[in-house]
Amino acid sequence: MILRADHVLPVTSPPVEDGGVLVRDGLIQEVGPFEEVKGSGEEVHRFEGSALIPGLVNAHCHSGMTLLRGYADDVSLNSWLRDYVWPVESRMNEEDVGAGASLACAEMLLGGVTGFADMYFHMGAIAAAVEESGMRALLSYGMIDVGKDENGAEAELEEGRRFAEEYGGAAEGRIETALGPHSPETCSARMYPRDSRIMTHVSETESGVTSVVEREGQGPVEFLDGIGVLDGALLAHGVHLSGEEMEILAERGAHVAHCPSSNLKLGSGVAPVRELLEVGVNVCLGTDGAASNNNLDMFHETRLAALLHKGVAEDATTVPAETALEMATLNGAEALGVDAGALEPGKHADIVAVDLSTPHDTPVDDPVSALVYSAKSGDVTDVFVAGEHVVRDGDLRSLDLERVVETAERSAERLRG
Ligand SMILES: [Zn+2]
Repeated sequence: MILRADHVLPVTSPPVEDGGVLVRDGLIQEVGPFEEVKGSGEEVHRFEGSALIPGLVNAHCHSGMTLLRGYADDVSLNSWLRDYVWPVESRMNEEDVGAGASLACAEMLLGGVTGFADMYFHMGAIAAAVEESGMRALLSYGMIDVGKDENGAEAELEEGRRFAEEYGGAAEGRIETALGPHSPETCSARMYPRDSRIMTHVSETESGVTSVVEREGQGPVEFLDGIGVLDGALLAHGVHLSGEEMEILAERGAHVAHCPSSNLKLGSGVAPVRELLEVGVNVCLGTDGAASNNNLDMFHETRLAALLHKGVAEDATTVPAETALEMATLNGAEALGVDAGALEPGKHADIVAVDLSTPHDTPVDDPVSALVYSAKSGDVTDVFVAGEHVVRDGDLRSLDLERVVETAERSAERLRG
């Protein structure tokens, strides 16, 4: 099949006008001017007035939390967790988490997100939702050992490992797994085994950093580096980092999932993204859970990341549109360890069509600028994951949207009592 659009944005090379993408066996075979990739009689999907981009990657999410959207707004992170989120999460069963995850997958796919990283509990239900939706995901069971005895800690680690082993490579390889120690504040060194791929929260709040320093005599990054788990680790937030810590992250090849909406909403601070990019850290973007955002809209996150750091630096050249789009696609795919995030031969055919003929996108001078600064998630018309056409002309084909919304509403209503 050939996808043809007014603008093709490979991300790793300049946009192509009237471009074509040849897809075969779930992989991109060719990208270029449509006239040159015409191939040999393949089916052509024409997207007039649209741009084709690599699927967006949400590099930090807690998909089950869509059920808690709007549940506790305008409270501090500490109170948000202890007074609201943890009590209601303790009442969530596997069915609830599955309902929340299906809702998350529906929201993300319709908004052009093809892959995400997730940490939660009842992870089998989340894996099932991902498999049915047709998305890709890097999944981990969120482990905590603080306040638990020896047996409790061992059981957490056991469950984390069991899930990772059982589901690694599931859904024809669309699901990969990692270990998910929640954070250095809530996990001791034993929850960070050296032999595993790790995703964890790091330095989200000032008070969290202080608590690690008090317990370990060193900051969270030094603590993780001392254990030897930073190589290729996926770290969420990284709001409160010193220059020295950023150098360590760059050296170890750690990935930082920047979550601007969540950090702003919970009053956690603003991550030093300009500095992270300058020292060469792979910075990607995440929504975090819907309870602290309150949506899973990667168009929002991309635009916010491009704007926020200009304001902080008082420099309009900070995080230009090209960089923001890379963070939302290529960098995210790299953080998930997926060979996607760019429209290049050999990459997975995770491709999104965005209608740029709407009033708020017209005129399109520079399609990258249009994508980052004026487009909205509602402009997404078509989504392909591994070449499968999962959203067609705004219609979600992999999930029964009406049923997904109804089921989620029922769970949310019961949980909120
Ligand atoms: Zn999180």
